Amino acid sequence: MARSRRPAVDEWFAGEGARFRLLGTRCAACAAVFFPREDTHCRNPACPGGELTEVPLSPRGRVWSYTDSRYRPPSPYVSDPELPWEPYALIAVELAAERIVVLGQAVPGVTVADLAVGMEVEVVAGVLYEDTGTTWLTWHWRPTEVAV
Ligand SMILES: [Zn+2]
Repeated sequence: MARSRRPAVDEWFAGEGARFRLLGTRCAACAAVFFPREDTHCRNPACPGGELTEVPLSPRGRVWSYTDSRYRPPSPYVSDPELPWEPYALIAVELAAERIVVLGQAVPGVTVADLAVGMEVEVVAGVLYEDTGTTWLTWHWRPTEVAV
């Protein structure tokens, strides 16, 4: 039986294929954009507070910083302790229009050796983990200039 595909976190992203987007919220009073989404109060200390509405974030940004994860993160990170730990690249991506930095894993196959500050990346759907019935989805950053 095919696994169903479900987001690992509700309402943080939506869409499939080229239409996949991270979802943030924007304050109507000061135009600040938040990711992870902020649905209660604007976090801008200079803002009196405005209505927060959902906005899809820019699909592309530039590498602001990056590192690699050489150890198994503690719970609630989900990984199979029976399998050897596979390091992955973690990228902080600056979204120019939103003026925010969004963390995420690089797509599988991309290592820190493939990355450089300022490189353009795009957001794509990725697999966080799979269990018997479900493929749990997250987002990955894919360099637009690197063949994977
Ligand atoms: Zn605000």
